[in-house]
Amino acid sequence: MKNLCHIALASLLLAATANADSGAEALSVQTKPLKGALYFMQGKGGNVVASVGADGILIIDDDYTEYAPAYHTALQAVAGQPGLPRFVINTHWHFDHTGGNAYWGERDAVILAQENVYQRMSTRQEMKAFDRVVEPSPAAALPVVTYADSLTLRFNGDRLEVRHFPTGHTDGDSVVFFTAENVVHMGDHFFKDRFPFVDIGSGGNVLGYTANVAAILDLVNDATIIVPGHGGLADKADLQRYHRMLVSTTAQVQAALEQGLSLEQISLDPEWADWGQGFINEQAWISFIAGSL
Ligand SMILES: [Zn+2]
Repeated sequence: MKNLCHIALASLLLAATANADSGAEALSVQTKPLKGALYFMQGKGGNVVASVGADGILIIDDDYTEYAPAYHTALQAVAGQPGLPRFVINTHWHFDHTGGNAYWGERDAVILAQENVYQRMSTRQEMKAFDRVVEPSPAAALPVVTYADSLTLRFNGDRLEVRHFPTGHTDGDSVVFFTAENVVHMGDHFFKDRFPFVDIGSGGNVLGYTANVAAILDLVNDATIIVPGHGGLADKADLQRYHRMLVSTTAQVQAALEQGLSLEQISLDPEWADWGQGFINEQAWISFIAGSL
C-alpha cells in the first residue's frame, strides 16, 4: 500500500511538472479585489494575497518559480510601475508557495518566514511521499527575517499578525491575520473541500494539524474572509466543515486500525468521497492519518 501510494503521488507530480515544462500556453494569474488594500491572486500553486497601498506592496506566498513574472505583471496591473513587493511572507517552505522568492529577493524584497522555513530551504530536503529531493535554495530565495512564534507588521493601514502553528502541515507553518480587514491567509492549514497534504517528513502531523485548525476557528468569525492555501475563497462555515472532516476521518481510521484492519482495507465514510478528487486521494489521506497516530 505504501508503495502504491508513493507511485500515485509521484505520477501526479510528474504530470504537473510535464505541464509546467511544456511552455505551450502563457502562464496567467487571476486577480480578485478582496477588501480594502487586499487582493486575492491565483496562478497554479498556493494562493497568494497581496496588500497594495500607500506603503507599497506586500505579498503572502509566491507560487511556483515559473509564475513569478506573471505575478509581476499582475501586480503592475493593480499597483502600476514598478510593481515590486517590499515584503514577501512565506506560509511554509514548499516550492508551490516559495518558488517566486528568488525573483523577488533579487528585486530587493525582504522575505519573512518562521525559522524552520529558513532551516528547510537552506538545506537539502527529501520529500519521501513524492520520492523527491529538493536542493537548497539560492541565497536570494531565503527568508531574511525569521521568527520563532509570531510577528506583527503594520502595513497599508492594517495590523498583520503572523502566527506560527507548529506540527501541522509542516513544522514551520504561519497563518496571517489581517486584523483590520478581518481576512486570514491560512496557508496549507486549509485545502478547501479537499483532503490535505500533511508533510510528515517535514515535521507535520494530522493530529497537530487538526488542533491548529480548531485554534484558528476560535480566532475567526462569520464575517472573516478565509483564504485557503489551495482552493477558492472560504468562510468560517467552510472551515468548520473542513474541521469536521479532519476529526471524523481520523476517528474512522483510528477505529479501523484498532480493529486490526490494514490500510488497504480501510475506506472512509462516503460522505467524504468528493474530498479525494484533488491532489490527495483517499488512500493517501488515510496513509497520512495512520502515519500521524
Ligand atoms: Zn504545502
